[in-house]
Amino acid sequence: MRSFNPPVRTLMGPGPADVHPRILQAMARPTIGHLDPAFIGMMDEVKDALKYAFQTENELTMPVSAPGSAGMETCFANLVEPGDKVIVCINGVFGNRMKENVVRFGGEAVVVEDSWGEAVSADKLEQALKDNPDAKIVAFVHAETSTGAQSDAKTLCKLAHDYDCITIVDAVTSLAGSELRVDEWEIDAIYSGSQKCLSAMPGISPISFGERAIKKLSNRKTPVASWFLDLNLVMAYWGEGKKRAYHHTAPVNTLYGLHESLVMLTEEGLENAWARHTKNHLELKAGLESLGMSFVVKEGDRLPQLNTVWIPEGVDDAMVRSTLLNDYNLEVGAGLGALAGKVWRIGLMGYSSRKENIILCTSALKEIFDSAK
Ligand SMILES: *Cc1c(COP(=O)(O)O)cnc(C)c1O
Repeated sequence: MRSFNPPVRTLMGPGPADVHPRILQAMARPTIGHLDPAFIGMMDEVKDALKYAFQTENELTMPVSAPGSAGMETCFANLVEPGDKVIVCINGVFGNRMKENVVRFGGEAVVVEDSWGEAVSADKLEQALKDNPDAKIVAFVHAETSTGAQSDAKTLCKLAHDYDCITIVDAVTSLAGSELRVDEWEIDAIYSGSQKCLSAMPGISPISFGERAIKKLSNRKTPVASWFLDLNLVMAYWGEGKKRAYHHTAPVNTLYGLHESLVMLTEEGLENAWARHTKNHLELKAGLESLGMSFVVKEGDRLPQLNTVWIPEGVDDAMVRSTLLNDYNLEVGAGLGALAGKVWRIGLMGYSSRKENIILCTSALKEIFDSAK
């Protein structure tokens, strides 16, 4: 056996994104104990910076020690009680997973379906809220990475509250890539991921719970079915001021990486990061359109950090993606589900969202198309 040296790639898929060298260096620093006062001080900074990234004052804002899928599960495990009716808006892969979580925690899922590539329809959600006055939660994906569609989180949350529901929002791909304002939009529970627009390594899920969510959690009649994700226990570990109780061993070096990514986000400024993603999206869009490609999602609902385009007619999906990887060290995403074989998902997330990547991607595609002619 020998040391593993991965190839150096440019990551323009649906995540992970390119990890900035500063973050990789931070992760190589010496491991210390997870109850060491120095570590606890760093964790407090991480929590404060996550509040900034989410634009919230929520005290219960912290990193879950596991990937985005575990952040999703944290929200459903803590907020769904057996018998709860939950309206789940599905317009791609991740909405489906939310429904799966509802069912597994004993809830009753009411599905509001939109076509892949479309934003969640506020009208359909309102109809479902009218038809289900006993619903307690509305769940939807802000940025559907399987299709590249962005939904209007502010409007959907307002509707949910008009009908006395709390909201669970998937912001795995939106956090730090496009406008997201947890407090202003009154999002009650939200989760994200470290490896998309925060450009850190995979494996951490920032979450935030507001007052309504905490109230639902504290009024539970049954214990949270997951021990590891039970926020009552996790908070005794991550909570401010109190004496920290051992819950699990935090992934110490991974959190150094998250900390560094948040330092970089505060240096750049959140709104500047959103603006950079938009600017680079427009530049990539111009390049792809000049190669004859068109977008799956209609203008206005497109995610700047995930560009889903139709594969031009007569072009071999697998050949192009393997040539990109083998000859250009460039990864782009394949289509999922109903869009498999029909689209590419080209990510411009976090540190991947920069000019040289756009040039590499468009010029590589041009060369491959030309040589196949
Ligand atoms: C990537 C992603 C997830 C899952 O995150 P993992 O870190 O892969 O577990 C969930 N929701 C959305 C919208 C995503 O893009």
